[in-house]
Amino acid sequence: MIFYTNLLILISYILKSLIKRLIYYTNRFVYWIISFKVVNIRARACIRCRQYIIIHPDNPENLNLINLFDRNHKGHNLVTLDLDEVKGSYKNIESVNSE
Ligand SMILES: [Zn+2]
Repeated sequence: MIFYTNLLILISYILKSLIKRLIYYTNRFVYWIISFKVVNIRARACIRCRQYIIIHPDNPENLNLINLFDRNHKGHNLVTLDLDEVKGSYKNIESVNSE
């Protein structure tokens, strides 16, 4: 009887540590995915007009908007940056147009 109780305690201990480890690695994986996504968000910005447009590489409609943005800002200084760098000092063109 004592043997089985000890066995049960041991099994529950192993299960608990396995679950803890699983949660830990799941969190790590989720954070990795999130940071991967954040790094990949790029924006096309015009230094002269202080405006930017977010680049969605897998969206063809967005590609047309970027071409339009390039045409509208012909002769200006255009740069491609991470979204973090343009936020704050630049204005999103999509919010400018809807104003
Ligand atoms: Zn411009």
